[in-house]
Amino acid sequence: MNEVLLIKMGELSLKGLNRRSFEDQLVRNLRRALSPLGDWQFSMSQSTLQAIPQREGTDMEEAAARVSRVFGISGYSRSARVGKSMEAILAQAPAYFEDTLACVRSFKCEAKRSDKAFPLKSPEICAAVGGALLDAYTHLRVDVRAPEATLYIEVRDQYAFLHADQQRGAGGLPVGTAGDAVVLISGGIDSPVAAWQMARRGLRLTAVHFASPPYTSPRAEEKVHKLLSQVASYAGRIRLFVVPFTRIQEEIKEKCPEDLFTLVMRRIMMRCAETIALRESCGALITGESLGQVASQTLQALACTDAVVDMPVFRPLIGMDKDDVVILARKIGTFETSILPYEDCCTVFTPRHPRTKPKPGMLEKAEAALELDRLIDEAVAGVKYYPIDGE
Ligand code: ATP
Ligand code: MG
Repeated sequence: MNEVLLIKMGELSLKGLNRRSFEDQLVRNLRRALSPLGDWQFSMSQSTLQAIPQREGTDMEEAAARVSRVFGISGYSRSARVGKSMEAILAQAPAYFEDTLACVRSFKCEAKRSDKAFPLKSPEICAAVGGALLDAYTHLRVDVRAPEATLYIEVRDQYAFLHADQQRGAGGLPVGTAGDAVVLISGGIDSPVAAWQMARRGLRLTAVHFASPPYTSPRAEEKVHKLLSQVASYAGRIRLFVVPFTRIQEEIKEKCPEDLFTLVMRRIMMRCAETIALRESCGALITGESLGQVASQTLQALACTDAVVDMPVFRPLIGMDKDDVVILARKIGTFETSILPYEDCCTVFTPRHPRTKPKPGMLEKAEAALELDRLIDEAVAGVKYYPIDGE
């Protein structure tokens, strides 16, 4: 008996002619996620992928945990792969299901027969396996309505599979199938969630963070590294560019009206991010903004922010309540890091009375006091690059 991971593909099975390239990308992503545990072989048939460990004693629990964070998967299970005969199934089922059955009193079997030439039909397979389990474990009874455990027997083209722990996958599309985008990442709760959501739709991420030392501390930047590494455990490697932003913020403070500080800053962030995105062959920007959350996220303010870039700006949190974002942040594992109290460059220069209904003209006028092109060129020329891998 070999234990394998049986992986059901999600939405990508709908993708007509592109399907093959989606599948190939999913396999590449799985190979990368599982490679720290040894070599794996992958085999695809009927929208189901087998991940087969090539080494005895591979840590299958850790492997399943890693697969749970790969996008493009609707469900997965650890599964025994046995010969495609009733003898082989009956010989393996009692031992393989022993742990599952030890702590329950009732069970049922479900069989699926994608090979219609197999001599037994599904109800007959269930009856045979159920009988063998009742013989082997006398504390059990069959309960088809509300069983404490459901055991699956799948007869496929080459092998039969036994499994008991069908888990939900991370959903979405394989990272890399939707192209590349730049996420503007702060140390807050929202932007890591926005990054995760767009990676889940298949985008490969490049991150841009604006740091303003000495107003922001090295610990604030370390926090961003940590947040991205948590996102990267789903999204795969993220390239991080840290942009030196102190000079720009000081100039804004010196030369622009206070009520527009934040918006001028956000517009310059967008311009810098777009410049980096173009250089790194990315086709969109991602932010963690949500309508009405703060003064710089009113409809008018967002329109002013959008006006300075040509690329599409994705704001996956735009219609979400903070509570819902927090639920997602906890699920992804970023929440506890996000609430560490290190100052962000936005908070250092926050105006007392920010304007909530700005017009683009006001901002253009305010920005005329700045040497925008030079400031942006200098900031982008000074970026520091870090490749960030999953935890
Ligand atoms: P978050 O909770 O993600 O920190 P926020 O609630 O602090 O966001 P803002 O400060 O208005 O909201 O920022 C809005 C968006 O601008 C963030 O979600 C992020 O995409 C981007 N952003 C803010 N600060 C930075 C920064 N220092 N570096 C990169 N992007 C930033
Ligand atoms: Mg926010």
